[in-house]
Amino acid sequence: MEQAWLDELREFIAIPSVSADPTHRDDVVRAAEWLADLVKRSGGEAEVAPFGERELVLGEIPATAGNGSAPTVLVYGHFDVQPPAPLDLWESPPFELSERDGWYYGRGIADDKGQLYTLVKAAQLLAQNAQLPVNIRIACDGEEEIGGHTIVDFLEHVRVRTGARDLHSGIYGGSALNAIHALMQTLSALVAKDGLLADELRQGRAHLDGDELHSAEMLPSGDVLLDEAGAAPLDPKAGAEFYIRTWSEPSLDVNGINGGKPDFVNTTLPVEAQARFTIRLAPGQEVRQMQEAAEKLLRAAAPAGAELEITRENAAPPGRMPPDARAIELGLDAFERALGTRPLLVRAGGTLPIVPALEEKGIATVVTGFALPESAVHSPNERMRVEDIGRAVAAAQELYRSWAELG
Ligand SMILES: [Zn+2]
Repeated sequence: MEQAWLDELREFIAIPSVSADPTHRDDVVRAAEWLADLVKRSGGEAEVAPFGERELVLGEIPATAGNGSAPTVLVYGHFDVQPPAPLDLWESPPFELSERDGWYYGRGIADDKGQLYTLVKAAQLLAQNAQLPVNIRIACDGEEEIGGHTIVDFLEHVRVRTGARDLHSGIYGGSALNAIHALMQTLSALVAKDGLLADELRQGRAHLDGDELHSAEMLPSGDVLLDEAGAAPLDPKAGAEFYIRTWSEPSLDVNGINGGKPDFVNTTLPVEAQARFTIRLAPGQEVRQMQEAAEKLLRAAAPAGAELEITRENAAPPGRMPPDARAIELGLDAFERALGTRPLLVRAGGTLPIVPALEEKGIATVVTGFALPESAVHSPNERMRVEDIGRAVAAAQELYRSWAELG
């Protein structure tokens, strides 16, 4: 990679724009300013615009080639990063870009500063050579990683109360309702059986089409992926059904449970317990309908005498781009030209509310990036392969060139 690129990336990574930590508030703003500067150095205009209590970077790099009817490509990325903790597991300081064994290490190199950098750099190179055939519009945020609104498909909080106060288990055990037991019984109605959620939670899901089934066949088997992740399969069929389940089935995970005093020896019968859970919706499903179904199941499963309080915290709808959209087809061709390999179209969990919002408006969206499963996104020693920076820039240039035809 060119020294100038490396210097730029090093600067960007060195700004600890941890959006979850209020003491880094100024750093998030600094990262926004850095990005706006990069856009300006690329022949464009950009500003850091206030948006609620945060800010967006909004900018534009106008086309420098073509006949004046250039289409506009919206580039989205985020300039905030996850907290680096636990620090002692990092082999090099998280906010110093360092290179080892063919990888660049640093918080944000894969998620998302490195990716965002390559998208702007590609536009810069084309613009400077009078070869940018599309208008690039930039809209980036600095709150993706904390996102009230961006992390999961939907998040709920359930609190169970079974009495006025905690009781002595020696005296009341076996006769008074225990809130932790009631919570376990309540949640079990939502837990998958044989890998599948209750029918009420599976309504509306869109099955995999021919292209997607083809992708599933070409990818590593589910058994391999689970093994590489160090994960225990949910049940004996989990490996074989990996892509069906993760691409076309909803899933539910209890993310945390609170109750009692597990750190101390005690003989208490607790009367309050709570849990947080998330549901990953499948394409085709509707947030409201699924929320209502989940709450109905919870209430039906709660034992008599348990008071249930359910709080909806966040939601975002699933989205799916039609594989035969012209922009997607051009994108596949462009990646194949730049990388020598035709990409596979896949589905993925994780939420970017902007994607379904654009889909609804009929705007085709390519969600792409060069992170690998080993990139340790959100973990210590986050990394990206050295060669992938140049490949990502080349692929983005090809992508912008190929979309000129959409004008
Ligand atoms: Zn992230």
